[in-house]
Amino acid sequence: MLNAAEGDIVSQPMCPQHPEREAVLTCVRCGRYACAACERGEGRCGECAHLSALEVPDSRARARRATVLQYAAAGAALVGLLFNLLLLPELKEGGEFHRLAVRGMLLLGLVIGIASQVTLLMWVHRVVRQLKALGAGIGMSPAGAVWVWLIPLLNWVKPYQLMRDIAEKLGGARFVALLPLQWWWAAGLLSRILEKVEARLMAGEDTTNGDMVGLLSSVCAVAAALLCVQVIKEIQARLDMRREGLDEEEAPAAGDVAEAA
Ligand SMILES: [Zn+2]
Ligand SMILES: [Zn+2]
Repeated sequence: MLNAAEGDIVSQPMCPQHPEREAVLTCVRCGRYACAACERGEGRCGECAHLSALEVPDSRARARRATVLQYAAAGAALVGLLFNLLLLPELKEGGEFHRLAVRGMLLLGLVIGIASQVTLLMWVHRVVRQLKALGAGIGMSPAGAVWVWLIPLLNWVKPYQLMRDIAEKLGGARFVALLPLQWWWAAGLLSRILEKVEARLMAGEDTTNGDMVGLLSSVCAVAAALLCVQVIKEIQARLDMRREGLDEEEAPAAGDVAEAA
C-alpha cells in the first residue's frame, strides 16, 4: 500500500497501464506502480508476473512423458486383463511357463505403475511451480503437492482436492466441471480397493472370487489411466494458454476494482 496522503489528488500515483486508475501497489520486482486490475499477486505487476512465469521452465515435456506412461499403464492393465481371461483356465492346471509369464507381467505392471506415478508427480510439481509464478498459487509448495500423494490415508483424498484446486485456479468452476476428475479419482480408488480385496481372497485360497475381483480391479485401472490422460492434457492446455497470456483475463470492471480496494 502507498503512503500517499489522502485527498492529495495531484500526488496520488496512477497506474502506468491505466492512467485513469489509482495505483494500489508498487511492484516488488520492477518498482513501477500498478492498479488493482494490474496486480497479479505476490506484490507484482502483470508484466513482472508474466516474466517470472516464463523464468520457470514449462511443464509441457513432463506432461507428455506422464501421458505416455499413463497410456503404458492402461496398456499393461489391459494386457493383464486379457491374459487372465484367456489363459487362466490353463494356468490353473499349473503350467510352469504360464506361471513364469504371470510373474513377469506382474513385475512389468509394477514397474510401469511406479514409472507412471513418478512422471505424474513430476508434472504436478512443475504445474504447481508454474501456477505460483503466475501469481495463481494454490497455497501449497510444489514439494507439498507431491507429498499429498505419498502420505498414507491422506492420499485417498488430498490428491483429488489438489487437482481440483489446480483446475479451479486455471479455469474456475466451469473448467472443473468439464474435467472428469471425479471419475478418474473414483476409478483409481476402486481399483486400489479391489486389489486389496483380491489379495485377501487369494490369501484365503478363494481363487475363483479372487480372479473375478482382480479382473474388475484391472478394468478400473484401465479406466483410471485413460481418464488421467484426459485430465493431464486439459490442465496442460489451460496452463499453456495462461503462460502465453492468451487467456489473460479482462481487466476487472470498475465495480470489481472498487470492491477489491
Ligand atoms: Zn513489475
Ligand atoms: Zn493498471
